[in-house]
Amino acid sequence: MASRLSALDGKFTQIKKPGRDAVSDTAPVEKTVKEIIANVRERGDAAVREYSAAFDKVELEKFEVSQEERLKAVAELDPQTREDTEFAIANVRAFAEAQLKTILPLEIETLPGLHLGHRVIPIEIVGCYVPGGRYPLLSAPVMTIVPAKVAGCDQVIACLPPNAHPAMIAGCHLSGADRIFRVGGAQAIAAMASGTETIPAVDKIVGPGNAFVNEAKRQVFGQVGIDQLAGPSEIFIVADETGKAAMIATDLLAQAEHDVRTRVGLITTDRKLAEETLVEVEKQLQDLSTANVASVAWKDYGEITVCEDETTMIAYSDYIAAEHLQVHTRDPQATARKLRNYGSLFIGELASVVYSDKCCGTNHTLPTMAAGRYTGGLWVGSYLKTCTHQWLDERGVAAVAPAAVRQSATERLEGHRRAAALRLSPQQFAAE
Ligand code: NAD
Repeated sequence: MASRLSALDGKFTQIKKPGRDAVSDTAPVEKTVKEIIANVRERGDAAVREYSAAFDKVELEKFEVSQEERLKAVAELDPQTREDTEFAIANVRAFAEAQLKTILPLEIETLPGLHLGHRVIPIEIVGCYVPGGRYPLLSAPVMTIVPAKVAGCDQVIACLPPNAHPAMIAGCHLSGADRIFRVGGAQAIAAMASGTETIPAVDKIVGPGNAFVNEAKRQVFGQVGIDQLAGPSEIFIVADETGKAAMIATDLLAQAEHDVRTRVGLITTDRKLAEETLVEVEKQLQDLSTANVASVAWKDYGEITVCEDETTMIAYSDYIAAEHLQVHTRDPQATARKLRNYGSLFIGELASVVYSDKCCGTNHTLPTMAAGRYTGGLWVGSYLKTCTHQWLDERGVAAVAPAAVRQSATERLEGHRRAAALRLSPQQFAAE
C-alpha cells in the first residue's frame, strides 16, 4: 500500500489528517475475539450466555426467537415502518432477482467429445449477522436475508444483538429468516461457525458489523465461508470545484454517526471546497444529535485531501478504496468510468449513500478497509457456488489423455500416469 501511495508523493496535501490509523487499531480486538471464539467452541451455549451478560448486559435463558415473538414483533410495527420495511424488501428482492438472471449455468464442448460446464448451486445453510447494537438498523436484516432467499438457500439463520430493537426481529421475519437468534458480536459469529447446543453450524456467514464482528469473521474463515470483511462504515467523496461544502459535510456526518471507527473523507481538486467543508463539518456537528459518535469518528478517522489534478484525485481514491464513494464532479458519469476501487459508487450529487443504506435496492453490505481493491459487496452471487463438471466420450479421451499421460510421467507421478492411460484404447495405451 505504501508504495502505491508513494507514486503520488507531492501531488496531494491533507488539510485534515486522520488522528488514528484504522488498520493498526485492530490489535486489541484480535486478542479479545480469539478468546471468545475458543470459549464458544469449547463451551457452546454456556459461553454465549456469559458473553451476552458481559457485553450486552442481558441474561438470556433461550436464544431463539419463537414464532409467537416474531408475530408479536410484526404486529407491533407501526404501519408506516412496516410499509417502509416492505418497500425496502421489495426493492432489494427485485434487484437481487435481476442480478440472479445474470448468473448462468454453462455447458460447452471445447474439443470434440470433451464436455465442460458449471452449475450454480445455492449454499445449503447461511448465517446472516444482523448488526444493531448501537442503533436499530432497520434495513440490516433485509440486506442479508432477502438475497439469501432469492438465491434459494435451504436454511437462512439470523443472529442479532439481544438488545436490538423489536422492529429488527420483525424485519428478520418479513425478510424470510428461517430461524432467528438473539446473539450478537463475536460470540454470534463463533456460535454460527462451530454450532452450539441450540445454534446450528452454518456453511457461510455473511453480513456487516462492528470491529468485533469483523475480526471474528476473519478468524473463523476457512472453517466456514464468509462474504467479506464489512466493518465500520466508510464514506469518501470525490469532488471538483462544483461540489457543495454543506452537502458534502452532511453526507460525511451521515456515515460518521454510525460508529466511532467510521472512516470518512473528502478527496478534491479544489482547495476552497476543502477549506469550506472543514468549517461546515465543525458547524454541523454543533447541532447533530449523534455528535457524540460522529465527532469522535471525524477526529480519529476523518480526512480532507486536496489533489493537484483529477488524475491524482482518481488515483488517491483508488488507493483508499472506500466502502461508499460519492462522485460530486461536473461530469460525474465520466469521473465514475475512471474509478476502479470502491464498494458501491454514488454517481452525481442526487445519489445519497443513505438511499442505498436503507431501501433503494442495492445491497448496503459492502467491503471496508480497502477490501474494495479485490471485491465488491454482498449480492445474490455471494450465496451461490459456481461448481464445474466435465464428461467425455472416447473422442474426448483421445484428445486429452496423451498429454495427461506425458505430464504425469514428467512429474514422476506414476499413479496419475496409469489412471490417465487406463482410459485409452489398447492401441493408444500401447503407444503411450
Ligand atoms: P453490532 O451488532 O455490530 O455489534 C454489537 C455487539 O458487539 C454486541 O452484541 C456485543 O456483544 C459486541 N460488543 C460490544 N462491545 C464489545 C466489547 N467491548 N468486547 C466484545 N464485544 C463487544 O452493532 P454495532 O456495535 O452497533 O455496530 C454496527 C456496525 O456495523 C457499525 O460499525 C456500522 O458502521 C457497521 N455497518 C457496516 C456496514 C457495511 O456494509 N460495511 C453496513 C451496516 C452497518
